[in-house]
Amino acid sequence: MDRVDLRAAVEQVDREIAALPLASSVLRGAWSQLVCALALGPERPTRKCPHCGNVGMCDATLCGYCWKKLVPADDAERCGDPAYLVSVT
Ligand SMILES: [Zn+2]
Repeated sequence: MDRVDLRAAVEQVDREIAALPLASSVLRGAWSQLVCALALGPERPTRKCPHCGNVGMCDATLCGYCWKKLVPADDAERCGDPAYLVSVT
């Protein structure tokens, strides 16, 4: 399970616990401790590969699908700009 799947699973359990009419404070406390321990952090920005169109991490230097080199983006604002993605192969 990668972090994206894990984050989605955590959010689902979070919603389920929030929807419980009689969730105990022990359960809520234990759950928030677990979420802290997982330290998922903020969602990482993604961008499309200019070669194959699959979505990968914004700061990736290689596409995880077609394995072509990508120029790493250090600025989240530039992640959505296709002109910033340059092929070096
Ligand atoms: Zn690719």
